[in-house]
Amino acid sequence: MKRIYKNFDEVPQILTSKKCETLIEDLLEKQNQHSFNQYYFAHEDIKTSLSNIYNNKCAYCETDTTAGAPLEVEHYRPKNKVKESEKHLGYYWLCYEWSNLLYSCSSCNKAKSNHFPLEDESKRVFAPKKIAGKLDKNSCNIRSSILLQEKPLLLNPEIDNPLEHVFFHPDGKIEGRSTRGEMTIEICKLNRQPLQIARKTLIDDIFRNLMRYLEKFDARNISDSTVKYAIKNEINKLLSLIKNDRPYSVLAMTVLKKFDVFYINRFGKKEHQKILREVYEEFKQTILEIMNKE
Ligand SMILES: [Zn+2]
Repeated sequence: MKRIYKNFDEVPQILTSKKCETLIEDLLEKQNQHSFNQYYFAHEDIKTSLSNIYNNKCAYCETDTTAGAPLEVEHYRPKNKVKESEKHLGYYWLCYEWSNLLYSCSSCNKAKSNHFPLEDESKRVFAPKKIAGKLDKNSCNIRSSILLQEKPLLLNPEIDNPLEHVFFHPDGKIEGRSTRGEMTIEICKLNRQPLQIARKTLIDDIFRNLMRYLEKFDARNISDSTVKYAIKNEINKLLSLIKNDRPYSVLAMTVLKKFDVFYINRFGKKEHQKILREVYEEFKQTILEIMNKE
């Protein structure tokens, strides 16, 4: 999960259309018995906007599905009955709310389903706020005080910085560093096997290359400067993986920040550790500068 910048004021026109206004009037009357109209909340224009904002990656797991199953428009606050609250009808009034629409892969969407746990259940909002019989749009914005005070446990990449809540291990596992991080991993099943394998592959590909160069150096097949040049190339590869349009870019950032945990300390020979550390230290300032720009 990576921090995403979405302009909540740039609402796709389809969501402010006359027809959409009629749908909102209908849902205020019928509540969750309203027939949620996918043509509007998952309109091609919305998918295009979300695809650009999310670089065609899943909001929760950062999987790039350009070549796979298409991403789906997902309601952060579920429009249907919330699993954690028996009496809640769902946040049906947020069905056509731009700031409630994320982009997600089908696996995360299915796992997340209608889950929406809160820090304190007594703060849950049960009904829409109306002004003169009409939906108060301001109270629907994810940054509105009424919704913020719910304190959701599910992270939202559009308002949270996920890196403050999760971290990765060299085996590809993701772990929470806060209750919200833990809960998000559990709800979206972010340790499901295919994801863990994809993350481990990214880590291991670099590890194998580093090992290969250092073994060549041991066998005197390459010189000290050549091995260092090759290690620099691998670090450059990682730097290209932190770009916004690359899958698992947050993992690549973590790997670069914790190069010792992911690589250096995993090499048994002190000489190998020394060479890796020397190259990394030489590069460290540049790495930090590049990462701060991302
Ligand atoms: Zn996903």
